[in-house]
Amino acid sequence: MAMAIPHRQLFIDGEWSEPLRGKRLPIINPATEESIGDIPAATVEDVELAVAAARRALTRSKGTDWARAPGAVRAKYLRAIAAKIIEKKSELALLESLDCGKPLDEAAWDMDDVAGCFEFYADLAEALDAKQRAPVSLPMQTFKCYILREPIGVVGLITPWNYPLLMAAWKVAPALAAGCTAVLKPSELSSMTCLELAQVCKEVALPPGVLNVVTGLGPEAGAPLASHPHVDKVAFTGSTETGKKIMTSAAQMVKPVSLELGGKSPIIVFEDVEVEKAVEWTLFGCFWTNGQICSATSRLLLHESIAEEFLGKLVTWAKNIKVSDPLEEGCRLGPVVSEGQYEKIKKFISTAKGEGATILCGGGRPQHLEKGYFVEPTIITNVETSMQIWREEIFGPVLCVKTFRTEEEAIELANDTHYGLAGAVISKDTERCQRISEMIQAGVIWVNCSQPCFCQAPWGGTKRSGFGRELGEWGLDNYLSVKQVTEYISDDPW
Ligand code: NAD
Repeated sequence: MAMAIPHRQLFIDGEWSEPLRGKRLPIINPATEESIGDIPAATVEDVELAVAAARRALTRSKGTDWARAPGAVRAKYLRAIAAKIIEKKSELALLESLDCGKPLDEAAWDMDDVAGCFEFYADLAEALDAKQRAPVSLPMQTFKCYILREPIGVVGLITPWNYPLLMAAWKVAPALAAGCTAVLKPSELSSMTCLELAQVCKEVALPPGVLNVVTGLGPEAGAPLASHPHVDKVAFTGSTETGKKIMTSAAQMVKPVSLELGGKSPIIVFEDVEVEKAVEWTLFGCFWTNGQICSATSRLLLHESIAEEFLGKLVTWAKNIKVSDPLEEGCRLGPVVSEGQYEKIKKFISTAKGEGATILCGGGRPQHLEKGYFVEPTIITNVETSMQIWREEIFGPVLCVKTFRTEEEAIELANDTHYGLAGAVISKDTERCQRISEMIQAGVIWVNCSQPCFCQAPWGGTKRSGFGRELGEWGLDNYLSVKQVTEYISDDPW
């Protein structure tokens, strides 16, 4: 499937421009380890220009500014972006797959979700018009009060590599719907589709400066964006370590941040399940997107009475997952994103072995693949809760298993983590599922499934998985500031 890799520049003020220091970074196809092109590497000077362009677009004179445009006008652009994404779906999916190793059909589904996200926030942008000047009832008749929902301003959006365009859409769509203007900094490991989003914006004639895309390294392009005094809010998705840095720099200016960070989510499987269905959800919950999902249910808590049968099936099915070049028909698991990530996962597995854990299956590179950053689906038992493999986010196709005897024990094990992004429970007992949903400390709970995600429902974590909610109406609120206007309406003197 040959395709020319677009040679893109930075997208600032509606125009393509070379990074001022002329630097570029290679694009490595993780399935072949070959360089297939390059992306511009922005530095602080480029970020300055992008932020200035976003600020001009926010408050241009003559009433053409984005912030004060009716929601219905902004919705028109968001719908046009959605339509273009669908028009370019196969091209975008291919670029995504080449860039981050995601199986091609998964990348195509991501594009549907991206378009769906822009459509959804187009609806909310329109609905926002009707919510302006909502009255607040006061205890005194001499005053009248109403609420304005205003865009926060210029927002810095920093995103990771696992769902490159989708994670950008989760931020860009609500930010633009709210009337904010934005500077997007995608991950240096997978920026291609975000640069194509810039091209889409050009094609739909989005006003210049409303969305700017600066690619480059985190410390060189992300850090100056996060700490910029004219950026009014930072929305970040990425690792907990980087999230702490973003929060520290934002704190210097008392700047709001929303943080979607890492996870180590549990899936609890009870004794009353249909084993085959539960095995399927367990595999999907951990190995989808090559195991590189923030919400991957990568800690399996299994009722001891079904452990033998369950693990037998789990291992057999895991061994049957097709690991191949992501462009190959039927591929279910591609390579992980980069050499660095590959080495990190290998180290996690060898440390676990050294500490006495048992590798039930996988643990290395599939024999039939000589090149590429491929890791077999790996299942590990005999894990102690103190082990690194149980406690830290791996971000690869590695599932750790522990058994439990009682519901209380399962909940305790599930919550024994610094993270709190997601959790899943599989059981036929509805009341038990409800109880567990309330007891697990996380922002997202799945019952009798794992990983489905809808843009209508809130998304985000607790504990060190971050704070703030994306998606749904909560996603729009992330980019709105609520202002009260109170008027004295009596003729009597105060
Ligand atoms: P990362 O933290 O390494 O990078 C994320 C982004 O931050 C990239 O664009 C990077 O260039 C930038 N960055 C790095 N250093 C920076 C700095 N000092 N200042 C500003 N920006 C900086 O994360 P990653 O490896 O790209 O992504 C994987 C992580 O993302 C995992 O921990 C995963 O759990 C998390 N994630 C979370 C969610 C969620 O919804 N909670 C979704 C996807 C991924």
